[in-house]
Amino acid sequence: MPFTRHRRRAHLLRGPQELLAHSAASAKRGERSLAKLEPRNLKHFADTIIQWQKQHGRHDLPWQQTRDPYTRWVSEVMLQQTQVAHVIPYYLRFMALFPTVTALADAPIEEVLKVWAGLGYYARARHLYRAAQWVCLHHQGVVPTDPALLLQLPGIGRSTAAAIATFCGEPPHAILDGNVKRLLSRVFAIAGSPSSSAVQRQLWELAESLLPIQQGAAYIQGLMDLGATLCTARRPLCNACPLQRTCQANQLGQQAHFPTARSRPKLAQKFTRMLLLQTPEGKFLVEKRPSSGLWGGLWCFPQLDPVQDPVQQSQEKWGLFTRRGDQLATLRHTFTHFHLDIEPHLLHVDLVRSAPVPCTDAFNWFTLQQLQSEATPVAVRKLVRQLQKHPACALSSGESPMNSTFSLSLGNL
Ligand code: SF4
Repeated sequence: MPFTRHRRRAHLLRGPQELLAHSAASAKRGERSLAKLEPRNLKHFADTIIQWQKQHGRHDLPWQQTRDPYTRWVSEVMLQQTQVAHVIPYYLRFMALFPTVTALADAPIEEVLKVWAGLGYYARARHLYRAAQWVCLHHQGVVPTDPALLLQLPGIGRSTAAAIATFCGEPPHAILDGNVKRLLSRVFAIAGSPSSSAVQRQLWELAESLLPIQQGAAYIQGLMDLGATLCTARRPLCNACPLQRTCQANQLGQQAHFPTARSRPKLAQKFTRMLLLQTPEGKFLVEKRPSSGLWGGLWCFPQLDPVQDPVQQSQEKWGLFTRRGDQLATLRHTFTHFHLDIEPHLLHVDLVRSAPVPCTDAFNWFTLQQLQSEATPVAVRKLVRQLQKHPACALSSGESPMNSTFSLSLGNL
C-alpha cells in the first residue's frame, strides 16, 4: 500500500519502540534481506537502503519539498552536527527572513547571527553569509549545483556538496557525514578511528562503490535517516534495521566497538571572569566580540581583567558606579578543544551616580529575555538561565520604586 501523506506524518512522530514494532512487522511482510555483502552484492545494499527509505524514512521535512539549491544548502548547513528536530524552527525562521540567497547576502550580518542564535556553531552562519555574497558576486545570485563549484564556497565540504548536488537532481554523489561513517563502519566492521585519514580514505572508497546509479536522492536520504534513527551512536535499534542480517558489527555483537572511538587528548582548561552589570530595570551591559575569533561578532558579557577588582574596573572603564551582588556559581562551558570555566561577577549599577553608557555597535543593554533572542553564544545563554533563577535578578521592570528615574537614564544608554 502506498504511503499516504497522513501516514508518513504519523510515522515521523513515532518513538523508537513504535518504529521498532513497525519495522519488525514490515520484515514479517517479506522485506528483502541482504545476502552477504560481497562486491557483487553491493547493489543490494543501495536497493535495501532505498526501499527502507521509501517505507520508513523521512519525507515531510520542510526542505524536502523542493530541489531549490539555496533551500537544500541552508538546510544541509544547519543539519551539520545538529539534530533535525532542533533545526526545524530555526530553518523556518531563517527562510522566512532570508528567502533567497540575495536576501541573505544583502542582510546585515547581525541579523543573520541573531536568527542563528541558539543553534550553535556560529561559524556556520558566518560562512553561509560569506558564501551568499560570493554566489551573488560570482554566480549572478544562482546557487550552483555542481559539487566542484559548491566546494569553493566557505563552509561546504565534500559531503555537504555531494548532498546538495544529489538532492538538487545532479547525478548521485557519495556522502560521508558522521552518521554515515558510523553506519558503514558497523556494517563492514571497519576498525580504526574515522577521524584518521587512512580510515577516512577507506570509508570514502566504500561510499563511492556503494553509490547507486539511480535514485541517488532516496539513497543518501536513506543513509541519513537510518544513521539518525536506527544506527544511533548509543543503543542502535538493530532489530528494526534492514541491514541487520549482514551488518558485521551486529553479527559479532560488537556494535559498541564500531566505529573505533577516537583517543581524545585531555581537554585543556581555561578560565575567564565576566562582568554582569545589572541596572535596576534588569538590563545588562553587553559588548560585541571582534568579528573573528572565539564568539566572533556575538554579544557577550564584558570580560574582566584577571586580577582587577570588578567594581573598580566598571568605574574606570565605563564610569559606572556599582555595588557587588550575590556570588554566582562558576559555570563550565566545553568547546571542542578546551573547557572554559566562567566566573560571573554580578554588580548592581547605580544609575544616578553613573555616567551613561550609550548603545552603540560595540555596546548595548539587554534584558535577560533579549539576551535569549539576540546573537549571544551558548555560554552566555547558560549564564542567563542561571541569572533567571536568581531572586535578585528576577527583578523585572515595574517593580522598582525608582523605575521612572532609571528609565529616563536608560533612555540615554
Ligand atoms: S544492524 Fe545495528 S549496527 Fe548494524 S547497521 Fe543496523 S542498526 Fe547499525
